[in-house]
Amino acid sequence: MIKKTINNVPILGFAAYSGTGKTTLLEALLPLLTESGLRVGVLKHAHHNFDVDKPGKDSYRLRKAGASQMLIASRYRHALMTETPEAEAEFEHLLARFDHQGLDLILVEGCKNIAFPKIELNRQQVGKPWLYVNDNNIIAIACDSQPETSLPTVDINDLSAIKALVINYLDADSKASAANCCDTLSPALLSVTQGQQKILDAIPLLKQSESVELEQALGRVLATDIASPINVPAYTNSAMDGYAIRGDDIGSSDFKVVGSVMAGYGFEGELQAGQAIQIMTGAPMPSGGDTVVMREQAVTSADRVSFGEAVIKQGQNVRQAGEDLAQGKPVFTAGTAIKSAELGMIASLGIDQVSVIKQLKVAVFSTGDEVQAPGSPLKANSIYDSNRYTIKSMLTQLGCNILDLGILADDESEMEQAIVTASEQADMIITSGGVSVGDADFIKNVLEKRGNVDFWRINMRPGRPLAFGHIDQVPFFGLPGNPVAVMVSFINFVEPAIKKMQGVREFTPLKVTAIASESLRSRQGRTEFSRGIYDFDPQSGQLSVKTTGKQGSGILRSMSEANCLIEIAPHVDMVKVGESVTIIPLQGRI
Ligand code: AMP
Ligand code: MG
Repeated sequence: MIKKTINNVPILGFAAYSGTGKTTLLEALLPLLTESGLRVGVLKHAHHNFDVDKPGKDSYRLRKAGASQMLIASRYRHALMTETPEAEAEFEHLLARFDHQGLDLILVEGCKNIAFPKIELNRQQVGKPWLYVNDNNIIAIACDSQPETSLPTVDINDLSAIKALVINYLDADSKASAANCCDTLSPALLSVTQGQQKILDAIPLLKQSESVELEQALGRVLATDIASPINVPAYTNSAMDGYAIRGDDIGSSDFKVVGSVMAGYGFEGELQAGQAIQIMTGAPMPSGGDTVVMREQAVTSADRVSFGEAVIKQGQNVRQAGEDLAQGKPVFTAGTAIKSAELGMIASLGIDQVSVIKQLKVAVFSTGDEVQAPGSPLKANSIYDSNRYTIKSMLTQLGCNILDLGILADDESEMEQAIVTASEQADMIITSGGVSVGDADFIKNVLEKRGNVDFWRINMRPGRPLAFGHIDQVPFFGLPGNPVAVMVSFINFVEPAIKKMQGVREFTPLKVTAIASESLRSRQGRTEFSRGIYDFDPQSGQLSVKTTGKQGSGILRSMSEANCLIEIAPHVDMVKVGESVTIIPLQGRI
């Protein structure tokens, strides 16, 4: 079990949908914990504006007069009220406010979307989906049903069993996790790799396969291994234009030429001692012949040939049957993506039908009242839909089948209808827009009602908001609305998921390094994806890379000018000219 601590104080959350009775349960649990001698702190996250103060009280008046921090103290307690008008305080910052010396445990109520260990509470009658399915921070479950999980599960009405879960957690070894506690508690919530991992863990492999004509197989993924039904080459043949002789005759001064054999033909009969046959590249070796002397070394006169001073080794210039590939030997394993070379190789074995993974059907729609399809004059306060076009083309490059559901207005019932249709007909659903904090809640409400989707903030730019989860069993991606963020998120999160579903083995994007030819700035603590142009620098013999210029995340032109994404790791805030940096080439993707 992974334990999270702050200044050695363990942190444990209780996660549940509203209506499950979190507070009531904590209220009953706290006395059991304190009875055992534990000193417990509680962090509760409130969704709305709240105030512990009362209008008219001195502290209230002083705050309103401008105190940005107000500490009120008496004999029995003190409270520090801190105004945060700009932005909500970060989780880690809040945890740091406690007096850690005086605590053995901090319980957190709420903060469902933040990554730290939690016990999930679930009551059947509330009718909400399980959180543990998509959240690997859940370490145990208290509920009134029997979920199919190997996680420790106790009865939600059995307080002493819940207390035992808490004690068990406190007893777990925290040494391994103490050092990294602050990474996972980072306020931006998930790093790019954590997001990728959570997605890949939740993505199933498509099991269905189908047989297709080789002609139709480009871009598909093999569902079964392919073994060679034949020897390659199928027969022993000459690797040169020249003369076939018997190895036993090497050293003879000359030979009688008894015939010639071209590619596509054979030589009837057996080569006798002292005989040679004129042979072309690829033509089958005559029976008895095992050595070929190249034409350039031959001197002919009438029906005789000699090879002067040429050094001849038995077996030279001959390709043996099965030398490249013996019959029955494996050629490709299931999970191989079929590209041009694979297609040619399969054809070379005489195979014209292959078993491939079923084509992934992906439902795509855009959301937003302001989003308008191209083809008619732009209405007031609107923008043309570009995301559906970029998403669909990236899907096409990945060999997917597309179910285009168009543009949905910010309307709950329309959205719900589309999501249900999509989950019935597709293997994956991708939308763009409507997932960032502050967006109208239509899509969130529908996803909460119809599925099990988490709203993440990824520690990256562009592409911070990302929704991921399932509608029924169908994976769902809610990409940001911003056109560049859509493409960057797609490459980092959707593409690996699709490849995994398709059964491809290498699903994370290929990365290489290049030398920065201009200085690159990034904010420390998050992954920055700039649009870049890389090129081979003949002088250094290495790749060099520069940005496309202005990096606004709405500027699709930067994506069109780019041939790579420059990935600047979270711990880097500046890449100087001449330093190396990671790039993700875009060829074949966009
Ligand atoms: P949202 O996440 O819905 O707030 O969208 C963020 C930004 O992306 C807004 O400026 C939207 O107008 C824009 N946007 C959303 N959907 C699309 C789309 N399909 N095509 C182009 N821009 C979009
Ligand atoms: Mg929107």
